Amino acid sequence: MSLSYHELLHRLREKMGVPIQKAKGIRLELPEPQILWIGNKTILRNFSEYPTLLRRDANKLLMFLAKELATAASLDGERAIFIGRKDKQSFTVLLNRYLRENVLCPVCGSPDTRIEKVKRLQFLVCEACGAKSSLKTA
Ligand SMILES: [Zn+2]
Repeated sequence: MSLSYHELLHRLREKMGVPIQKAKGIRLELPEPQILWIGNKTILRNFSEYPTLLRRDANKLLMFLAKELATAASLDGERAIFIGRKDKQSFTVLLNRYLRENVLCPVCGSPDTRIEKVKRLQFLVCEACGAKSSLKTA
C-alpha cells in the first residue's frame, strides 16, 4: 500500500498539528473506487458516495464518467454499472478531474460550492469565499 500525495500531506499536517479545515487547498478526500468485474461489466460499488460528497447530481456524474470512459453506464441503487472492463485507476483519475473541474472553487480551493444556472451558462458559486466562476461543463 502506498500513500497518495494528499494522504501524506494529511498525515504531515496531523503531525504538525495544523488544522486540516484551515489549510489552504483541497480538503476533500475522495474515497477509493471499489471496483468489481462481472463478465464484461464493471461495477463501481461505492458510486453513490461520490455525488453525496461532491454535492452533485448522481446522473450528471454518471454521464460524465460514461462519456469519458466512452461506454454506457447505468445506476443500480448505490452502484453504477459500466459496460466493459474499466480499471480502478481510470475512475480515480476521472473522479479527481470532476472534483477539480466541477466542484473545487478555483479561487480558494474550497469544495463547498454549488452550481448556478443563468440562462445557458453555468457558474460555480463558492460558499466559502463567494467567488463566482464560469463552468465549461457540468
Ligand atoms: Zn472560494
